[in-house]
Amino acid sequence: MGLRDTIRRIVSRLLGKKEYMVYETCAVCGERVYLPFHCEYCGKYYCDRHRLPFDHDCRNIGQWKNKGR
Ligand SMILES: [Zn+2]
Ligand SMILES: [Zn+2]
Repeated sequence: MGLRDTIRRIVSRLLGKKEYMVYETCAVCGERVYLPFHCEYCGKYYCDRHRLPFDHDCRNIGQWKNKGR
């Protein structure tokens, strides 16, 4: 059991959730990020630099563009 699992377990208990993703790996650069950004268009997790659909070549970038941003 690593420190990562310990932290996740503690936070999960605090938030009353079964599993809370404290750490996640960025789907683009593979960097381990604390409290990652979740892309609502492709459902993956990203770091600060790749959080925008434009930055991670999102497969549903069409939806994002249609939002008018
Ligand atoms: Zn990244
Ligand atoms: Zn995306």
